[in-house]
Amino acid sequence: MSTGTNRRTFSRRRFLHWSQSALAAVGLSPALASALAISSESARKAAAAGAGDDYYEKLGVEKIINAAGTYTYLTAAVMPAQVQRAVALAALHPVVLKDLQRASGEYIAKRLRCEGALVTSGASAALTLATAACIVSANGAKPNQIPEEVSFMKNEVIVQKAHRYEYDHAMLLCGVRIVEVVSLDDYKRAFTTKTVMTNFFNAAEAGEIDRETWLEVAHGHNVPCHIDAAADMPPIENLWKYTGMGFDLVAFSGGKGIRGPQNAGLLLGKKHLTELAAENDSPNSDAVGRGMKVAKEQIVGMVAAVDWLLEQNDEADQREYMRRAKIIIQMVKDIPTMKAEIFVPEIANHVPHLILAYDPSVVGVTPKQVQERLRTLRPQIELNPDTGSTGRLGAHNNENAIVVGTWMLQPGEAEIVGRHLRKVLTTSKL
Ligand SMILES: *Cc1c(COP(=O)(O)O)cnc(C)c1O
Repeated sequence: MSTGTNRRTFSRRRFLHWSQSALAAVGLSPALASALAISSESARKAAAAGAGDDYYEKLGVEKIINAAGTYTYLTAAVMPAQVQRAVALAALHPVVLKDLQRASGEYIAKRLRCEGALVTSGASAALTLATAACIVSANGAKPNQIPEEVSFMKNEVIVQKAHRYEYDHAMLLCGVRIVEVVSLDDYKRAFTTKTVMTNFFNAAEAGEIDRETWLEVAHGHNVPCHIDAAADMPPIENLWKYTGMGFDLVAFSGGKGIRGPQNAGLLLGKKHLTELAAENDSPNSDAVGRGMKVAKEQIVGMVAAVDWLLEQNDEADQREYMRRAKIIIQMVKDIPTMKAEIFVPEIANHVPHLILAYDPSVVGVTPKQVQERLRTLRPQIELNPDTGSTGRLGAHNNENAIVVGTWMLQPGEAEIVGRHLRKVLTTSKL
Protein backbone atom coordinates (compact mmCIF):
# COMPACT_ATOMS: atom_id res chain seq x y z
CA MET A 1 0.00 0.00 0.00
CA SER A 2 1.15 3.50 -0.59
CA THR A 3 2.00 5.70 2.35
CA GLY A 4 -0.77 8.07 1.33
CA THR A 5 -3.47 5.46 1.54
CA ASN A 6 -2.03 4.16 4.72
CA ARG A 7 -2.43 7.54 6.32
CA ARG A 8 -6.16 7.29 5.84
CA THR A 9 -6.57 3.69 6.80
CA PHE A 10 -5.16 3.67 10.29
CA SER A 11 -7.64 5.90 11.98
CA ARG A 12 -10.00 3.38 13.48
CA ARG A 13 -8.37 2.93 16.82
CA ARG A 14 -8.02 -0.23 18.70
CA PHE A 15 -5.38 -0.39 21.37
CA LEU A 16 -3.85 -3.37 22.98
CA HIS A 17 -1.98 -1.78 25.80
CA TRP A 18 1.19 -3.66 26.29
CA SER A 19 1.75 -5.40 29.55
CA GLN A 20 4.66 -7.60 30.46
CA SER A 21 2.41 -10.45 31.57
CA ALA A 22 0.26 -10.41 28.44
CA LEU A 23 3.30 -10.59 26.26
CA ALA A 24 5.07 -13.15 28.40
CA ALA A 25 2.10 -15.43 27.84
CA VAL A 26 2.51 -15.52 24.07
CA GLY A 27 4.49 -18.23 22.41
CA LEU A 28 5.41 -19.23 18.88
CA SER A 29 3.61 -22.14 17.29
CA PRO A 30 6.30 -24.55 16.06
CA ALA A 31 4.42 -25.12 12.79
CA LEU A 32 4.35 -21.41 12.03
CA ALA A 33 7.98 -21.00 12.98
CA SER A 34 9.08 -23.67 10.56
CA ALA A 35 6.79 -22.37 7.81
CA LEU A 36 8.29 -18.93 8.19
CA ALA A 37 11.80 -20.27 8.40
CA ILE A 38 11.65 -22.11 5.11
CA SER A 39 11.76 -19.16 2.74
CA SER A 40 15.01 -17.61 3.93
CA GLU A 41 16.53 -20.99 4.61
CA SER A 42 15.69 -22.28 1.14
CA ALA A 43 17.14 -19.11 -0.36
CA ARG A 44 20.39 -19.72 1.51
CA LYS A 45 20.42 -23.35 0.47
CA ALA A 46 19.70 -22.46 -3.13
CA ALA A 47 22.55 -19.99 -3.11
CA ALA A 48 24.88 -22.46 -1.40
CA ALA A 49 23.99 -25.16 -3.93
CA GLY A 50 24.91 -22.83 -6.75
CA ALA A 51 21.27 -22.70 -7.89
CA GLY A 52 21.69 -19.28 -9.40
CA ASP A 53 23.30 -15.89 -9.22
CA ASP A 54 22.30 -13.49 -6.50
CA TYR A 55 21.24 -10.60 -8.72
CA TYR A 56 20.66 -8.26 -5.81
CA GLU A 57 24.33 -8.70 -5.01
CA LYS A 58 25.35 -8.48 -8.66
CA LEU A 59 23.35 -5.28 -9.10
CA GLY A 60 24.48 -3.82 -5.80
CA VAL A 61 20.91 -3.53 -4.50
CA GLU A 62 20.82 -3.76 -0.71
CA LYS A 63 18.65 -6.49 0.83
CA ILE A 64 16.63 -4.95 3.64
CA ILE A 65 14.98 -6.05 6.85
CA ASN A 66 11.35 -5.07 6.44
CA ALA A 67 10.27 -3.74 9.86
CA ALA A 68 7.61 -1.63 8.16
CA GLY A 69 4.84 -3.81 6.70
CA THR A 70 3.45 -4.84 3.31
CA TYR A 71 4.37 -1.57 1.63
CA THR A 72 4.53 -1.55 -2.15
CA TYR A 73 7.66 0.64 -2.11
CA LEU A 74 9.43 -2.01 0.00
CA THR A 75 8.35 -4.82 -2.38
CA ALA A 76 5.60 -5.87 0.08
CA ALA A 77 5.72 -9.52 1.23
CA VAL A 78 8.17 -12.36 0.67
CA MET A 79 6.46 -15.40 -0.82
CA PRO A 80 6.39 -18.52 1.40
CA ALA A 81 8.61 -21.41 0.22
CA GLN A 82 5.73 -23.48 -1.17
CA VAL A 83 4.62 -20.52 -3.27
CA GLN A 84 8.18 -19.92 -4.51
CA ARG A 85 8.40 -23.59 -5.52
CA ALA A 86 5.09 -23.40 -7.40
CA VAL A 87 6.34 -20.31 -9.27
CA ALA A 88 9.61 -22.02 -10.19
CA LEU A 89 7.79 -25.12 -11.48
CA ALA A 90 5.34 -23.05 -13.53
CA ALA A 91 8.29 -21.33 -15.21
CA LEU A 92 9.42 -24.61 -16.75
CA HIS A 93 6.51 -25.05 -19.21
CA PRO A 94 4.42 -22.93 -21.56
CA VAL A 95 0.63 -23.24 -21.44
CA VAL A 96 -2.30 -21.58 -23.21
CA LEU A 97 -2.72 -18.44 -21.14
CA LYS A 98 -6.52 -18.30 -21.34
CA ASP A 99 -6.74 -21.94 -20.18
CA LEU A 100 -4.66 -21.04 -17.14
CA GLN A 101 -6.69 -17.89 -16.45
CA ARG A 102 -9.96 -19.80 -16.56
CA ALA A 103 -8.81 -22.79 -14.54
CA SER A 104 -7.09 -20.66 -11.88
CA GLY A 105 -10.21 -18.49 -11.57
CA GLU A 106 -12.47 -21.49 -11.12
CA TYR A 107 -10.13 -23.03 -8.55
CA ILE A 108 -9.82 -19.81 -6.54
CA ALA A 109 -13.57 -19.15 -6.69
CA LYS A 110 -14.23 -22.57 -5.22
CA ARG A 111 -11.64 -22.15 -2.46
CA LEU A 112 -12.80 -18.62 -1.61
CA ARG A 113 -16.50 -19.43 -1.77
CA CYS A 114 -17.53 -17.07 -4.55
CA GLU A 115 -18.97 -17.48 -8.05
CA GLY A 116 -16.12 -16.13 -10.09
CA ALA A 117 -12.48 -15.07 -9.72
CA LEU A 118 -9.75 -13.57 -11.86
CA VAL A 119 -6.06 -13.32 -11.03
CA THR A 120 -5.13 -9.72 -11.86
CA SER A 121 -1.83 -7.87 -11.75
CA GLY A 122 -2.83 -6.37 -8.38
CA ALA A 123 -5.74 -4.74 -6.56
CA SER A 124 -5.35 -1.62 -8.64
CA ALA A 125 -5.71 -3.62 -11.87
CA ALA A 126 -8.64 -5.48 -10.29
CA LEU A 127 -10.36 -2.12 -9.82
CA THR A 128 -9.71 -1.10 -13.45
CA LEU A 129 -10.99 -4.43 -14.77
CA ALA A 130 -14.01 -4.29 -12.45
CA THR A 131 -14.84 -0.86 -13.84
CA ALA A 132 -14.39 -2.07 -17.43
CA ALA A 133 -16.62 -5.09 -16.72
CA CYS A 134 -19.36 -2.87 -15.32
CA ILE A 135 -19.18 -0.51 -18.31
CA VAL A 136 -19.37 -3.40 -20.78
CA SER A 137 -22.21 -4.99 -18.79
CA ALA A 138 -24.32 -1.81 -18.48
CA ASN A 139 -23.86 -0.72 -22.08
CA GLY A 140 -23.62 -4.01 -23.92
CA ALA A 141 -20.35 -2.51 -25.17
CA LYS A 142 -17.12 -4.07 -26.42
CA PRO A 143 -13.78 -3.84 -24.58
CA ASN A 144 -12.21 -1.93 -27.49
CA GLN A 145 -14.61 0.99 -26.88
CA ILE A 146 -12.91 1.73 -23.52
CA PRO A 147 -11.95 4.49 -22.84
CA GLU A 148 -12.49 6.45 -26.06
CA GLU A 149 -16.24 6.02 -26.44
CA VAL A 150 -17.16 5.84 -22.76
CA SER A 151 -18.09 9.51 -22.52
CA PHE A 152 -21.01 8.77 -24.89
CA MET A 153 -22.23 5.80 -22.83
CA LYS A 154 -23.56 5.05 -19.36
CA ASN A 155 -20.42 6.02 -17.49
CA GLU A 156 -21.09 7.11 -13.89
CA VAL A 157 -19.53 5.54 -10.80
CA ILE A 158 -20.94 6.55 -7.41
CA VAL A 159 -18.46 6.96 -4.52
CA GLN A 160 -18.73 8.48 -1.04
CA LYS A 161 -16.72 11.71 -0.80
CA ALA A 162 -14.84 10.22 2.17
CA HIS A 163 -13.92 7.21 0.00
CA ARG A 164 -12.16 9.20 -2.73
CA TYR A 165 -8.55 8.02 -2.85
CA GLU A 166 -5.49 7.76 -5.08
CA TYR A 167 -6.80 4.51 -6.59
CA ASP A 168 -9.68 6.43 -8.21
CA HIS A 169 -7.14 6.69 -11.01
CA ALA A 170 -7.65 2.97 -11.65
CA MET A 171 -11.33 3.63 -12.47
CA LEU A 172 -10.77 6.89 -14.35
CA LEU A 173 -8.50 4.99 -16.72
CA CYS A 174 -11.71 3.56 -18.22
CA GLY A 175 -13.10 6.99 -19.00
CA VAL A 176 -15.78 7.01 -16.29
CA ARG A 177 -17.04 9.99 -14.34
CA ILE A 178 -17.05 9.76 -10.53
CA VAL A 179 -20.20 11.03 -8.82
CA GLU A 180 -19.52 11.99 -5.18
CA VAL A 181 -22.08 11.59 -2.43
CA VAL A 182 -22.05 12.43 1.28
CA SER A 183 -25.45 11.68 2.86
CA LEU A 184 -27.75 8.72 2.30
CA ASP A 185 -30.19 11.09 0.58
CA ASP A 186 -27.44 12.22 -1.81
CA TYR A 187 -26.70 8.60 -2.52
CA LYS A 188 -30.31 7.68 -3.28
CA ARG A 189 -30.59 10.68 -5.60
CA ALA A 190 -27.29 9.96 -7.35
CA PHE A 191 -28.54 6.94 -9.31
CA THR A 192 -29.38 7.85 -12.89
CA THR A 193 -29.78 5.97 -16.15
CA LYS A 194 -26.01 6.52 -16.59
CA THR A 195 -24.89 4.76 -13.38
CA VAL A 196 -22.71 1.71 -14.10
CA MET A 197 -21.16 0.87 -10.73
CA THR A 198 -20.40 2.00 -7.17
CA ASN A 199 -17.05 1.78 -5.37
CA PHE A 200 -16.62 1.32 -1.60
CA PHE A 201 -13.18 1.86 -0.02
CA ASN A 202 -13.31 -0.72 2.74
CA ALA A 203 -10.66 0.79 5.01
CA ALA A 204 -11.91 4.38 4.69
CA GLU A 205 -11.95 6.07 8.06
CA ALA A 206 -15.09 8.07 7.41
CA GLY A 207 -18.25 8.03 5.32
CA GLU A 208 -21.87 8.24 6.48
CA ILE A 209 -23.13 5.20 4.59
CA ASP A 210 -22.34 1.70 5.90
CA ARG A 211 -21.71 -1.34 3.73
CA GLU A 212 -25.14 -2.93 4.12
CA THR A 213 -27.04 0.25 3.28
CA TRP A 214 -24.66 0.95 0.41
CA LEU A 215 -25.40 -2.46 -1.11
CA GLU A 216 -29.13 -2.36 -0.53
CA VAL A 217 -29.64 0.98 -2.29
CA ALA A 218 -27.40 0.08 -5.25
CA HIS A 219 -29.02 -3.31 -5.71
CA GLY A 220 -32.43 -1.63 -5.58
CA HIS A 221 -31.26 0.09 -8.78
CA ASN A 222 -29.63 -3.09 -10.19
CA VAL A 223 -26.21 -1.45 -10.03
CA PRO A 224 -23.19 -3.63 -9.15
CA CYS A 225 -20.99 -2.71 -6.16
CA HIS A 226 -17.22 -3.04 -6.05
CA ILE A 227 -15.37 -3.00 -2.73
CA ASP A 228 -11.63 -2.34 -2.46
CA ALA A 229 -10.31 -4.59 0.31
CA ALA A 230 -6.72 -4.60 -1.02
CA ALA A 231 -4.90 -4.65 2.32
CA ASP A 232 -7.70 -6.13 4.39
CA MET A 233 -6.48 -9.66 5.01
CA PRO A 234 -6.00 -10.74 7.85
CA PRO A 235 -8.36 -12.01 9.02
CA ILE A 236 -8.39 -14.81 6.44
CA GLU A 237 -12.20 -14.96 6.48
CA ASN A 238 -12.32 -11.51 4.84
CA LEU A 239 -11.55 -13.34 1.59
CA TRP A 240 -15.18 -14.55 1.54
CA LYS A 241 -16.81 -12.06 3.90
CA TYR A 242 -17.51 -9.28 1.36
CA THR A 243 -18.67 -11.49 -1.50
CA GLY A 244 -20.82 -13.23 1.12
CA MET A 245 -22.37 -9.88 2.07
CA GLY A 246 -23.39 -9.41 -1.54
CA PHE A 247 -20.66 -7.24 -3.03
CA ASP A 248 -20.65 -8.01 -6.74
CA LEU A 249 -16.89 -7.47 -7.08
CA VAL A 250 -14.13 -7.49 -4.45
CA ALA A 251 -10.46 -6.59 -4.96
CA PHE A 252 -7.53 -7.89 -2.91
CA SER A 253 -3.82 -7.34 -3.33
CA GLY A 254 -2.02 -10.62 -3.93
CA GLY A 255 1.34 -9.50 -2.64
CA LYS A 256 0.36 -7.94 0.68
CA GLY A 257 -1.01 -10.10 3.51
CA ILE A 258 -1.80 -12.98 1.15
CA ARG A 259 1.95 -13.22 0.34
CA GLY A 260 1.57 -14.11 -3.30
CA PRO A 261 3.62 -12.46 -6.07
CA GLN A 262 3.74 -8.69 -5.61
CA ASN A 263 2.41 -8.12 -9.12
CA ALA A 264 -0.69 -10.23 -8.58
CA GLY A 265 -4.10 -9.67 -7.06
CA LEU A 266 -7.61 -11.04 -6.95
CA LEU A 267 -10.89 -9.89 -8.41
CA LEU A 268 -13.63 -11.97 -6.78
CA GLY A 269 -17.36 -11.88 -7.28
CA LYS A 270 -20.24 -12.55 -9.64
CA LYS A 271 -19.19 -14.86 -12.44
CA HIS A 272 -20.71 -12.85 -15.30
CA LEU A 273 -18.69 -9.82 -14.13
CA THR A 274 -15.37 -11.60 -13.53
CA GLU A 275 -15.78 -13.10 -17.02
CA LEU A 276 -16.30 -9.63 -18.49
CA ALA A 277 -13.28 -8.44 -16.50
CA ALA A 278 -11.22 -11.19 -18.18
CA GLU A 279 -12.39 -9.98 -21.61
CA ASN A 280 -10.91 -6.56 -20.79
CA ASP A 281 -7.64 -8.10 -19.59
CA SER A 282 -4.44 -9.37 -21.25
CA PRO A 283 -3.89 -11.27 -23.51
CA ASN A 284 -6.67 -9.41 -25.36
CA SER A 285 -4.73 -6.67 -27.10
CA ASP A 286 -7.40 -4.08 -27.85
CA ALA A 287 -8.37 -3.73 -24.19
CA VAL A 288 -7.71 -1.40 -21.27
CA GLY A 289 -6.13 -4.27 -19.32
CA ARG A 290 -3.57 -5.28 -21.96
CA GLY A 291 -0.78 -3.68 -19.97
CA MET A 292 -1.93 -5.43 -16.80
CA LYS A 293 -0.53 -8.77 -17.89
CA VAL A 294 -0.07 -11.49 -15.31
CA ALA A 295 2.48 -14.09 -16.37
CA LYS A 296 1.91 -17.81 -15.92
CA GLU A 297 4.37 -17.85 -13.01
CA GLN A 298 2.43 -15.18 -11.14
CA ILE A 299 -0.96 -16.72 -11.86
CA VAL A 300 0.26 -20.02 -10.44
CA GLY A 301 1.96 -18.18 -7.56
CA MET A 302 -1.33 -16.48 -6.70
CA VAL A 303 -3.18 -19.80 -6.65
CA ALA A 304 -0.45 -21.36 -4.52
CA ALA A 305 -0.58 -18.38 -2.13
CA VAL A 306 -4.33 -18.90 -1.67
CA ASP A 307 -3.70 -22.59 -0.94
CA TRP A 308 -0.92 -21.65 1.51
CA LEU A 309 -3.02 -19.01 3.21
CA LEU A 310 -5.93 -21.37 3.81
CA GLU A 311 -3.55 -23.59 5.81
CA GLN A 312 -2.63 -20.70 8.12
CA ASN A 313 -4.24 -19.67 11.37
CA ASP A 314 -4.95 -16.04 12.29
CA GLU A 315 -4.47 -16.52 16.03
CA ALA A 316 -1.12 -18.29 15.65
CA ASP A 317 0.07 -15.60 13.22
CA GLN A 318 -0.94 -12.77 15.55
CA ARG A 319 0.82 -14.52 18.47
CA GLU A 320 3.98 -14.75 16.41
CA TYR A 321 3.84 -11.05 15.46
CA MET A 322 3.40 -10.21 19.17
CA ARG A 323 6.29 -12.49 20.12
CA ARG A 324 8.55 -10.53 17.78
CA ALA A 325 7.31 -7.22 19.21
CA LYS A 326 8.14 -8.51 22.68
CA ILE A 327 11.69 -9.40 21.66
CA ILE A 328 12.21 -5.83 20.49
CA ILE A 329 10.56 -4.33 23.60
CA GLN A 330 12.89 -6.37 25.84
CA MET A 331 15.90 -4.85 24.14
CA VAL A 332 14.85 -1.20 24.39
CA LYS A 333 12.61 -1.00 27.43
CA ASP A 334 15.28 0.37 29.75
CA ILE A 335 16.00 3.35 27.48
CA PRO A 336 15.03 6.42 29.61
CA THR A 337 11.39 7.58 29.16
CA MET A 338 10.62 4.65 26.78
CA LYS A 339 6.99 3.50 26.63
CA ALA A 340 5.93 0.57 24.46
CA GLU A 341 2.44 0.14 23.10
CA ILE A 342 0.86 -2.32 20.67
CA PHE A 343 -1.66 -0.97 18.18
CA VAL A 344 -3.82 -3.12 15.90
CA PRO A 345 -5.71 -1.24 13.14
CA GLU A 346 -9.25 -2.56 12.86
CA ILE A 347 -9.33 -2.78 9.06
CA ALA A 348 -6.30 -2.93 6.73
CA ASN A 349 -2.98 -4.15 8.12
CA HIS A 350 -4.91 -5.73 10.98
CA VAL A 351 -1.74 -6.86 12.78
CA PRO A 352 0.18 -5.66 15.85
CA HIS A 353 2.21 -2.51 15.28
CA LEU A 354 4.82 -1.78 17.95
CA ILE A 355 4.90 1.88 18.98
CA LEU A 356 8.00 2.95 20.91
CA ALA A 357 7.42 6.41 22.38
CA TYR A 358 10.11 8.33 24.24
CA ASP A 359 11.39 11.82 24.94
CA PRO A 360 14.01 12.67 22.29
CA SER A 361 15.39 15.53 24.39
CA VAL A 362 16.32 12.99 27.08
CA VAL A 363 17.47 10.18 24.75
CA GLY A 364 19.30 12.46 22.35
CA VAL A 365 17.95 11.26 19.01
CA THR A 366 14.60 11.78 17.26
CA PRO A 367 12.59 8.92 15.71
CA LYS A 368 13.24 10.36 12.22
CA GLN A 369 16.99 10.31 12.97
CA VAL A 370 16.69 6.73 14.25
CA GLN A 371 14.96 5.80 10.98
CA GLU A 372 17.78 7.42 8.96
CA ARG A 373 20.58 5.85 11.00
CA LEU A 374 19.07 2.36 10.78
CA ARG A 375 19.30 2.73 7.01
CA THR A 376 23.03 3.32 7.21
CA LEU A 377 23.76 0.22 9.34
CA ARG A 378 24.02 -3.27 7.81
CA PRO A 379 21.74 -5.09 7.40
CA GLN A 380 19.64 -2.08 6.40
CA ILE A 381 16.43 -1.86 8.42
CA GLU A 382 13.34 -0.03 7.16
CA LEU A 383 10.95 1.11 9.90
CA ASN A 384 7.24 1.73 9.40
CA PRO A 385 6.78 5.01 7.47
CA ASP A 386 4.55 6.35 10.27
CA THR A 387 7.69 6.64 12.43
CA GLY A 388 8.04 10.20 13.71
CA SER A 389 4.71 11.37 12.31
CA THR A 390 1.54 12.43 13.98
CA GLY A 391 -1.15 10.41 15.61
CA ARG A 392 -2.70 7.77 13.37
CA LEU A 393 -1.55 4.64 15.11
CA GLY A 394 -2.57 5.13 18.67
CA ALA A 395 -2.10 7.34 21.68
CA HIS A 396 1.67 7.50 21.41
CA ASN A 397 2.10 7.73 17.65
CA ASN A 398 3.54 11.17 17.00
CA GLU A 399 6.85 12.85 16.22
CA ASN A 400 8.24 11.21 19.38
CA ALA A 401 7.47 7.63 18.43
CA ILE A 402 9.12 4.87 16.43
CA VAL A 403 6.72 2.48 14.69
CA VAL A 404 7.77 -1.10 13.95
CA GLY A 405 5.69 -3.47 11.84
CA THR A 406 6.68 -6.99 12.86
CA TRP A 407 4.65 -9.14 10.45
CA MET A 408 7.07 -9.03 7.51
CA LEU A 409 10.14 -9.83 9.64
CA GLN A 410 11.86 -13.11 8.80
CA PRO A 411 13.23 -15.56 11.39
CA GLY A 412 15.96 -13.99 13.51
CA GLU A 413 15.29 -10.46 12.30
CA ALA A 414 13.36 -9.21 15.37
CA GLU A 415 16.59 -9.70 17.35
CA ILE A 416 18.57 -7.66 14.81
CA VAL A 417 15.95 -4.88 14.82
CA GLY A 418 16.04 -4.79 18.63
CA ARG A 419 19.84 -4.74 18.69
CA HIS A 420 20.17 -1.98 16.11
CA LEU A 421 17.44 0.12 17.69
CA ARG A 422 19.18 -0.19 21.03
CA LYS A 423 22.49 0.78 19.48
CA VAL A 424 21.11 3.88 17.78
CA LEU A 425 19.09 4.92 20.85
CA THR A 426 22.02 4.57 23.25
CA THR A 427 24.94 5.94 21.25
CA SER A 428 23.46 8.85 19.30
CA LYS A 429 23.39 12.36 20.66
CA LEU A 430 21.53 15.28 19.13
C1 LIG B 1 -2.30 -1.47 -1.93
C2 LIG B 1 -3.65 -0.99 -2.29
C3 LIG B 1 -4.09 -0.99 -3.61
C4 LIG B 1 -3.20 -1.42 -4.75
O1 LIG B 1 -2.87 -2.74 -4.63
P1 LIG B 1 -1.87 -3.44 -5.69
O2 LIG B 1 -2.07 -4.88 -5.44
O3 LIG B 1 -0.51 -2.94 -5.35
O4 LIG B 1 -2.30 -2.99 -7.03
C5 LIG B 1 -5.38 -0.57 -3.88
N1 LIG B 1 -6.19 -0.14 -2.90
C6 LIG B 1 -5.81 -0.11 -1.61
C7 LIG B 1 -6.76 0.37 -0.57
C8 LIG B 1 -4.52 -0.53 -1.25
O5 LIG B 1 -4.14 -0.52 0.02
